[in-house]
Amino acid sequence: MANHAFEADTGKILDIVIHSLYSNKDIFLRELVSNSSDAIDKLRYLALSDKALSDLDDGYEITLTINADKKQLIISDNGIGMDEGELRASLGTIARSGTKSFLDALGQADTKDGEGDNLSLIGQFGVGFYSAFMVADKVEVLTRKAGTYAAFLWSSDGRTGYDIEQSEKPSHGTIITLNMKDEAADEFLEEMRLGHIIKTYADHISYPVSFVEGEESRRLNSASALWTRPKSDISQEDYDAFFADMGAGYGTPILTLHNVTEGAVNFTNLLCVPQMRPYDLFDPARKPKVKLYINRVFITDDTDALIPGWLRFVRGVVDTQDIDLNVSRELLQHNQTLNKIGKAVVRRILNELTKLHDKDKARYDEFWEQFGIVLKEGMYEDADNRDKILKISRFRSSKSDELISLSDYIERMADGQEEIYTLSADSVAQAEMSPHLEGFKAKDIEVIYLTDPVDEFWMPLIGDYEEKAFASITKGGVDLDKFKSQKEEKGEEGETASIDALIAAMKEKLGASVADIRISKTLTDSPACLVADENGMDLQMQRLMRQHDPNFKEPPRILELNPQHDLVKSLNQLASDGQSDELVDDASHLLFEQSLILEGKAPENLGAFSARMTRLMTRGVKL
Ligand code: ADP
Repeated sequence: MANHAFEADTGKILDIVIHSLYSNKDIFLRELVSNSSDAIDKLRYLALSDKALSDLDDGYEITLTINADKKQLIISDNGIGMDEGELRASLGTIARSGTKSFLDALGQADTKDGEGDNLSLIGQFGVGFYSAFMVADKVEVLTRKAGTYAAFLWSSDGRTGYDIEQSEKPSHGTIITLNMKDEAADEFLEEMRLGHIIKTYADHISYPVSFVEGEESRRLNSASALWTRPKSDISQEDYDAFFADMGAGYGTPILTLHNVTEGAVNFTNLLCVPQMRPYDLFDPARKPKVKLYINRVFITDDTDALIPGWLRFVRGVVDTQDIDLNVSRELLQHNQTLNKIGKAVVRRILNELTKLHDKDKARYDEFWEQFGIVLKEGMYEDADNRDKILKISRFRSSKSDELISLSDYIERMADGQEEIYTLSADSVAQAEMSPHLEGFKAKDIEVIYLTDPVDEFWMPLIGDYEEKAFASITKGGVDLDKFKSQKEEKGEEGETASIDALIAAMKEKLGASVADIRISKTLTDSPACLVADENGMDLQMQRLMRQHDPNFKEPPRILELNPQHDLVKSLNQLASDGQSDELVDDASHLLFEQSLILEGKAPENLGAFSARMTRLMTRGVKL
C-alpha cells in the first residue's frame, strides 16, 4: 500500500488519462522531456544571479537510457530538481487549479469525436507527468533540488497513491524511471523509436536530448531554439510541433508570426494564434503566457508588459538582446525597452489579424468565434488600439446568420438611417425573441446583436463608428417613424388612435413599478415592451450589476404600448368607458410582467402573477 493517497480528483483523472488516451501513447515522452527542459530553464534563470548555482553548469542536458533486462526507460535531467514539499505538491495532485476545467472539457470533448480532442487536452491541462502511466505500471522519480543535498525518491503505481522516501543522488536534477508495461516495453525500449518521437515532438527544445548507451552518447534532437533559425529552413510542421509544446494545443495555428525586428528595438518573435481556446482562457487572472527570452535564456512567461491580457490567447516566444540579463523579474514590468517591444508585438499581431480579416473571411471568422470575445476586451483597455480592434470586430445581426463587420452594416443601412442600431441580450436566440426587434424587422432595418458581457464595457467608450453613432434599441428614444414599412408604403397602415385613457389608467395601477408609460414607435406584433430611458442603464449592464451585487435594485423602466394591437385597443376602450376596472387592472399588470419575462426576468410577486393569470383564463375559458 502506498503511504500517501492521491488528492480526490487525481485518481479519477489518472484513470481517464491512462485509458482514454491509450492510442496516443507517444506523447508521454514529449511531456517528460518538456518538463525536463522547463526544469533546466528554471535553473539557468536562477544561475544568472546566483554564483553557486552557475557553478553547477557542466552542460545542461537531458538523457534517455534503456535497461532492457528490467524493462526500464530512464529519463534524466540536470535541471532545478524538487525538494520534498515541491515533489508532494507537484506530483501528488494533478492539474491543481485546472482539475475542474479539465474534467469539464473532457466531458465536452467526449460528446464530440473524443480522441483527437483528448490528445490536445492533455498538454493544456498540465496532467503531463501522469501520461507516464500510459506506458508504465510503476514510476520512480529520484530528485535533488539544486543548491541542496537531500534527495528524495517518489514512487507510484498510478492507482492507489504514492510514496516518498529519503534517498541519495550525487548531483542535482531529476531521474525518472519508467517500469514499462509488457506491451509498451516491446514498442518503446528501442533507440530508433525514441529518436523518432524526440525528432517529432521535441526537436526544437533548447537543450540537447541524447541517447546514452554505456560510454556512448548520441544526440537525438537538433536543440537549436527554433526562432533563431532562418524562416526558409523551417517547415510548417516544425512550427506546429513547436507551438504544440508551448501549450497551444494541437491542430494548425490560425496565424503564425515569425519575425526578426531590427532598429530602435531588436527582437525576434515566434508567435501563434492557436486554433482552439486554451482551457484557462477565462481564468480571472487573465495571464498572458508568451515566453520572454533574453539572448536565448528563458526569463519568464509571466509578464503582461510584453503581451496584454486581451491577447492572452497568443502563444510563443519573444527573444531580445536589448535587455540586461540581470534585470529582475519584478523590475521587468517597468522596463522601458520591454514596454517598447510589447507595443511593437501588439501592433504586429493586430496588423496580421487585420490582413487575415481583409483577405480570408472564413478563416478570420474561425478565429473570431474562438477569441473575439477576448480581443474585444482590448477596446476597453487599450485606447490606442481601440479603432483597429473595432475595425476587425465581427457581429451577428437580425439580418444575418453569418458574422458581419460594422463596415458591412453601414454599407447596407437603410435610406436616411443615421445610427447603428444595437440590441443587448444574453444570446442570439434571446435577441431574436425580443419584442424590441419587431419594428425594425417590419421596416427591414438591420440590428446588431451584442451578446457578450464585455460589449457593455467598450461600447460606451466608443460612441460611434465611421461617424455613425451607436443606438441601443432597448433604450427609449429610437424613432422609427421616419422609415416606412412595406404596409405603410402600400398605404395599408391605419392612423394611430390615441390610447391616452389606457395610459392614464395603467400609470395609476402600476405606480412606481414603471418610470413612465408611453406609445411605442417600434412595436408591431407584441402589445408591450420595456425600455430604458435614453440615458439609463442598458439591460445587459443591469444584469452585470446584479451579478456583482445581489442587492442591486434596477431603476424602474419605461413601459411602451403598441397602439395598433387589438388587446391594447380593447383595453383602451374599457378604460375610457370606465368599465371592468378589475379586468383592466389584471391586464395592466400582466402586460408589464410579460415584458419582464421576455427579458429573462421573473415578476417580483409570483403568487399575484399566477392569481391574475388564473382570473383571466377563467374568464376566457367559459363552457
Ligand atoms: P506541468 O508541467 O504542466 O506543470 P506536470 O504534471 O507535467 O504538469 O508536472 C507537474 C510539476 O512537476 C511541474 O510543474 C514541475 O514543477 C514538476 N516537475 C515535473 N517534472 C520535473 C522535472 N523533471 N524536474 C523538476 N520539476 C519537475
